[in-house]
Amino acid sequence: MSFDRFGRNINYLRISLTDKCNLRCVYCMPEDMTFRPRAELLQDDEIDRLVRIFASLGFHKFRLTGGEPTVRANIVDIVARMGRTPGVKTIAMTTNGLLLHELAAPLAQAGLSRVNISIDTLNPEKFKKLTRWGEVEDVWAGIQAARKAGLGIKLNAVVVRNYNDREDVVDLARLTFYHDWQVRFIEMMPFGDVAAFQQAGVVSEEELRQTISAALGPLTPVNGGQLDGEARLYQLEDGIGTLGFISSVTQPFCASCTRARLTADGRLRLCLLREKEVNLMEPLRNGVTDAQLRDIITEGVWWKPWGHGLSENVIPLNRVMSEIGG
Ligand code: SAM
Ligand code: SF4
Repeated sequence: MSFDRFGRNINYLRISLTDKCNLRCVYCMPEDMTFRPRAELLQDDEIDRLVRIFASLGFHKFRLTGGEPTVRANIVDIVARMGRTPGVKTIAMTTNGLLLHELAAPLAQAGLSRVNISIDTLNPEKFKKLTRWGEVEDVWAGIQAARKAGLGIKLNAVVVRNYNDREDVVDLARLTFYHDWQVRFIEMMPFGDVAAFQQAGVVSEEELRQTISAALGPLTPVNGGQLDGEARLYQLEDGIGTLGFISSVTQPFCASCTRARLTADGRLRLCLLREKEVNLMEPLRNGVTDAQLRDIITEGVWWKPWGHGLSENVIPLNRVMSEIGG
């Protein structure tokens, strides 16, 4: 098992499979984003090896993300090999859903169990404005394909002031009357060049709950208000699904964090919102042994930062969200 110096058991790895994306969401990356050359990214065999090593250190929950993980070549084979790795118990994915209409079934067959699909609004024009060119119907087709493939589904919406903070949030919450999904609202976090926009547009969980309950009725806490992963869950009266609020900015959940992240260029990122990273790519390509890599990872995990510094205005500037893997 892997522990940090605060006694937290770190057993959940989020792997960014690529920094590339087929959208350019306004809260995630600039429109003129430049991506890394393929050679700078972890190759398939390097991912396989790192997954094997992390699993041997007690990491058992894995999430594939990006950038957009479904644009990575060989994504189905990567998932299948992960699924066969001893110690890997669950494989989930965070995706914008655009390519799920063709990938959901093969991914489920390869061993993927759950998808978190990003859909910030149901309104086609607003969706296009938020993603810069996306079609919301394509995401909806992806959701249906995921459902048909038997994948567990959560929907993610990042809320941005004056984009989707009013009726869009209510429309998304209303889905839980008809579907047993978890619809999650994420407070926008600040990163790199996009930080000023993100800080100006953040909408708090409290405001969101007020907006939703004013339109759809009272929200009752689920599990006595305990966190489910990073989300605090609520339910609408007569709702069959749940509403999750991920409030990293106004209600940080650092004390219960069990996560580490592997960036697409092979850095171990110990806290999403701290710049500190451990370079795994260099030793990997310099021919170190598995035992040496295990030691580097164990040491890195030990020094995982306690939590983020947003309340002191410490903002990570070295990368935007898509490079780290949300
Ligand atoms: N492309 C995939 C997607 O959009 O789901 C996976 C990568 S994306 C970086 C992972 C998650 O981070 C998505 O749910 C996205 O909405 C969220 N996200 C992106 N930028 C964010 C920000 N500035 N603050 C909070 N969440 C953000
Ligand atoms: Fe792409 Fe996901 Fe970032 Fe949107 S949030 S630009 S879909 S990586």
